[in-house]
Order: sequence, then C-alpha cells, then structure tokens
Amino acid sequence: MDPRPHLSIDGLLAELAALARISEADPPVVTRVVFGEADLRARAYVKGLCAAAGLAVSEDAIGNTFARWQGSQPELAPVGTGSHIDAIPNAGSYDGVVGVLGGLEAIRVLQKLGFKPRRSIELVVFTAEEPTRFGIGCLGSRMMAGVLTPQQALALRDKNGRGLEELRTQAGFSGPLESVQVPDGRFHQFVELHIEQGPFLEREGIDVGLVTHIAAPASQRIVIAGEGGHAGGMLMPGRRDALAAAAELILALESAAKSTGAIDTVGTVGICEVFPGAVNSIPSRVVMTTDVRDIDRARRDGVLAALASAVEEVSQRRGVQIAVELVNADPPATSDPSILAALEAAAIAAGKSHRKMVARAYHDSSFVSCIAPVAMLFIPCRSGVSHRPDEYASPQWIGSGVHVLARTLALLSE
Ligand SMILES: [Zn+2]
Repeated sequence: MDPRPHLSIDGLLAELAALARISEADPPVVTRVVFGEADLRARAYVKGLCAAAGLAVSEDAIGNTFARWQGSQPELAPVGTGSHIDAIPNAGSYDGVVGVLGGLEAIRVLQKLGFKPRRSIELVVFTAEEPTRFGIGCLGSRMMAGVLTPQQALALRDKNGRGLEELRTQAGFSGPLESVQVPDGRFHQFVELHIEQGPFLEREGIDVGLVTHIAAPASQRIVIAGEGGHAGGMLMPGRRDALAAAAELILALESAAKSTGAIDTVGTVGICEVFPGAVNSIPSRVVMTTDVRDIDRARRDGVLAALASAVEEVSQRRGVQIAVELVNADPPATSDPSILAALEAAAIAAGKSHRKMVARAYHDSSFVSCIAPVAMLFIPCRSGVSHRPDEYASPQWIGSGVHVLARTLALLSE
C-alpha cells in the first residue's frame, strides 16, 4: 500500500486555508473561541467535509464531534484520531487543526486506496482544548474522561459571567452533561497528529516525532501572611518578612525539582506579588504561584510533597502564615507501546525519519489516556513557534505527518 499517489496535499492546504479564514480576527490572525460565531462556522465547515467523505457525523452534549468511517466489524470499538479546532486569541493556522483536517485526509487516502478497515475509524473534534473562555483547558476531552464532572462544568463561567449551560444551549448543544463521559473501551486506541510547538524536529531535520509521554502540570497558589512595618524602625530580630519566607520556598521548589535527577521534572514560580511593595516597607504579604511538571505523576507529586514540608517548616520557623491552594493537578500520560510500535512501523514504511520525544504542552490525548490507550504523532513547526499568527508548518511536513498517520490508522484498524 502506498498512500502517496492519493494524498491530496494541495486540497488539504486549501482546506487548512479555508478554515483559517473562519476567524474572529482578520487574516492571518486566527481567533476561534469556543461557542463563538467563528467556532460554530468552523464546526459546520469541518462537519461538511466529513459528510462529503461519507463519514457518519454525531455530536455529544458539549459539542465533541465524532465522524465515523464504518469498519467491516462495526461492533468493535473504533480506532480514534483527531484534535481540536478552537484557537486562542491571536493564534495561527495549524495548532489542533492539522490533527483534524490531516486526520480526515488520512481517512480519505485510505478510502481511495480501497482499504477496508475491520474496526471503524473515528475522527474526533474535541470541544475547547484551549482554556480561553472558561479558564480550563481540554474541556471536551476532560469531560469525556470524567475528570471534570457535570457539576464542576456547570459552575464554569466566562469573563462576562455567562455560564457553560447557557452558552452550550445557545450554540445548539443539548442533552444531559452526564452523557458526555464515555466508558473505558469507547475507543480501542487513539492517536493524535499535532504540530510539535517546540523547535527540536525542525532543528534536527526529522520528519516526525513519536510522542512517548505527555507531561502534565500541577499548579498552586500560595499566600504568605507575615507582618509589615517600617524598614528602618523594625530591627531584624523578630521580623516576620513574607518575602523572605517566599524566597526560601522558591529555592526549596527549585531544589526539589532538581533533586529528582530527571530532566523531565521542572518547577517554576512565575508570579510573586509583594505587598505593600514599597522600598522602605517590610513585605507583609506575598501571593505566589508554583507550576510543577513531569511525565511521571508520582515523581511530580513528590516535588509537591517536598514543597509542602518546606511550607510547614518555614511557616513555623519564621512565624508566618502560609496558605496553599491547589489550582489544578492533571494526569501525565504515557503512550501505549503497541500504538508507538505501529507509528514506528508506519514511519519506516513511509521512509520518514523519526525520533521519540516528550510532549510538554497540554493535549486532548492527555485526557483520552484516562479511557483508552493513546499516542501522539508530531510534525515540525517553524522555529517551534505556536500560538502566534506566524505559526507555520510546511506542506512537506504536513504531508509526512498525514502519510504516517494514514499507515498507522490502517495498521491499528486491520
Ligand atoms: Zn493544540
């Protein structure tokens, strides 16, 4: 089987360009916020393409969209592929979209080859991978996995105070939110094509990346309450300086992240607000955030535990009150070895250079991993740039990704 003669790269590029023009902003800027007018038009465009390819299209109560190419044994769980089409404000044309339209093209190539899948192949367009509207990423896949409950979803509001229930209804999605969660086994396997959003594949001149792990963050908000006073009048003994306490915690986090000995453990304090913030005033209060990421949940949570004991110790020794709020702690994902083996076999058969790598940004596959075996396939993007209008993946890179994906879907659905 050789997908190349059937791969219509010009047609796919035209579809990518057409989708990019469906935006809340002028080209080349792409902005598509979930349930906004552009998001709904983009959904209609993609559903039309799927229907034209003979796929059976359905949607769930939150707008996750499924386009199924029926296999010869339709009772078997399908092989899934897909990604998202929402885009953050001032984004580009490739993030997410390559996995949706590229996934569709992979299916069309297999159709033209006369391939008959045994398992159905299902293209999935996940609702709101980006956190723009509701402040939480991967809304659709998170709810499918049951990681976000209907009760939690109903509490979500956008910046204008409009709730998820009102917005999804207005967008035409109804039915109980409980029905969005799917059981284990809903997908036999799932594979997501995506741009790398990092520089390594382009820098190394490699066609495709086979993602072995998807890292996941845990973030906390820490508030330290000490005692303020005049920087001259209050002498050093007995001070309860909130910023000095924060400094110890920042270093404790750095040291805990380094001490795992793993290159994939990272810990960052990105926000540290000091009150009252005057040159001659002892800091009385600090609000800081922590972001800890790893591909291994136990190791990541070990860093959080080390930080928690530092909080305890610093609080007692310095006489400051420290409140720690867990903002989120999402699950890292490990790719399924049999999907990775299929991806590798497909890359070799396609004559594409490849390497294994770690995904360090969020993806819908992170949450799909809670209900099905997953893996991801990365293609390069220019200079690693993403979430910007100048985001770019070359026709050759996209073609390589679709070629390898088509062969992979054939292997997994046989
Ligand atoms: Zn994405």
